[in-house]
Amino acid sequence: MRNLLMTPGPTPVPEDSRFIMAKDIIHHRTEEFMTLFKEMSESLKYVFQTENPVITLTSSGTGAMEASIVNLFSENDKVVVISVGNFGDRLIQLAKLYKLNVIEISYKWGETAKVEDLKAILAKEEGVKGVIMTQHETSTGVVNDIEAFGKVIKDTDMLFVVDAISGLTANEFKTDEWGVDCALSGSQKGFMAPPGLAFAALSSKAQAAMEKSTLPKFYFSFKKALKVLVDGQTPWTPAIGVVMAVNESCKMIKKEGIENVVARHKAMQEATVAGVEALGLELLIKVPKDRGATLTTVLCPEGLNGQKVNKLMSKKYGITIAGGQGELQGKIFRIGHLGGVDTLDIVTTFSALEMVLKELGYNNFEPGDSLKAIQKYLMSKI
Ligand SMILES: *Cc1c(COP(=O)(O)O)cnc(C)c1O
Repeated sequence: MRNLLMTPGPTPVPEDSRFIMAKDIIHHRTEEFMTLFKEMSESLKYVFQTENPVITLTSSGTGAMEASIVNLFSENDKVVVISVGNFGDRLIQLAKLYKLNVIEISYKWGETAKVEDLKAILAKEEGVKGVIMTQHETSTGVVNDIEAFGKVIKDTDMLFVVDAISGLTANEFKTDEWGVDCALSGSQKGFMAPPGLAFAALSSKAQAAMEKSTLPKFYFSFKKALKVLVDGQTPWTPAIGVVMAVNESCKMIKKEGIENVVARHKAMQEATVAGVEALGLELLIKVPKDRGATLTTVLCPEGLNGQKVNKLMSKKYGITIAGGQGELQGKIFRIGHLGGVDTLDIVTTFSALEMVLKELGYNNFEPGDSLKAIQKYLMSKI
């Protein structure tokens, strides 16, 4: 039985990126590594759509979230942190942990953030040093309008920090054009590589803030990483194998073109929505433009436990989908369509999902209903 990852990270790793990791490991203080790392770092700039440097940390995404706090701010700095779910809450937690003066804007899970709410806060608060938020909130599947928030922050002294960890490559993201000073992502999400690397794109405004930050840091120092980046180096031993894989996957992204990669994710999301609706199931996010193209969140009807759906999907059919986090545990399941997922993987997933739903007693459809809807959608796109 194969193992298909229909999750928002880790995601399937394409064959070329897997094979390159089977090669002899190279040493990181060599010309060979420097050439490789420079090539990967240039590709990252393409994917992030920035002219600024993108640094690489050896950690999962959360490491980059923590690093953005300790490198760009100082104790008591006033920041606005916007949360629409689990990962936004993590940003709040981190900012508080490092004793920033946090003004929280929180929304109900499933909602998107509203620019008007930020404007209202900024109208009455003085000395705000930064705005920190998530692009795609993985716990619910909503995508925030980063471009709109960027317009409010762009021509001010405030820093705009965005967790685009699961958003990048699936949803449009223009770091420079949208005025994002620090954009974050990770290797195991839209980069189609194994976990192990996190990335941070840093504007000149962010680099200036970095010089002033007084919070303690050592391993996660942006300054140390930036200093040696020009030489194709990292301050510490990086996850060399993952660098190789990310570099390979970036070649594929560049060949396809980032706009086409985003469009492909949109098509997979719409195919998934067509399948869900054909089964008579309800989506968590009602407004189509609020739905991210990273994953689709399905509400469990009365009597259906989301955890059971997940368990059967993986046990019987080798397909891993994601469950609900926090307050949504057991009440939803999330179908990821991120990174190396193929359009026909959606068909495979729904074929298994139909059988699982029938087995669990949800009978509101005829076998094949979702497959028919997905195929019709896909044919209309070709
Ligand atoms: C995956 C993810 C992270 C980081 O999680 P790690 O497990 O540390 O990689 C952060 N934010 C969002 C929105 C994510 O989806």
